[in-house]
Amino acid sequence: MPSLSIHRNDTVKVLAGSDRGKTGRVLRAFPDKGTVLVEHVRVVKKTVSSKTSRMRTQGGIAEQESPIHVSNLALVCPTCGVARVAYKVEGSSRLRICKKCGQELPTKK
Ligand SMILES: [Zn+2]
Repeated sequence: MPSLSIHRNDTVKVLAGSDRGKTGRVLRAFPDKGTVLVEHVRVVKKTVSSKTSRMRTQGGIAEQESPIHVSNLALVCPTCGVARVAYKVEGSSRLRICKKCGQELPTKK
């Protein structure tokens, strides 16, 4: 099972693409594809048929994030901003730490 350095509920910064420079919270991770969904990033407008949608959005348009590859993202450290991630193995768990300040980047549940 491949694992990503970016997990759900992490704060990330977009490094490439049309949303470059934006930061957002990771809504979902797809480790097998190496992609994540980031809140307000790569938002696409979808036309929703009134037959299938229970939400009554004006004009039948719904906004939805689309997955972005983790190579286009950087994890944001609460202390120093964009972080490079290092790993520390402690017992059976692998902790992520910020390479710059050494702070642990906890995986939020
Ligand atoms: Zn840091």
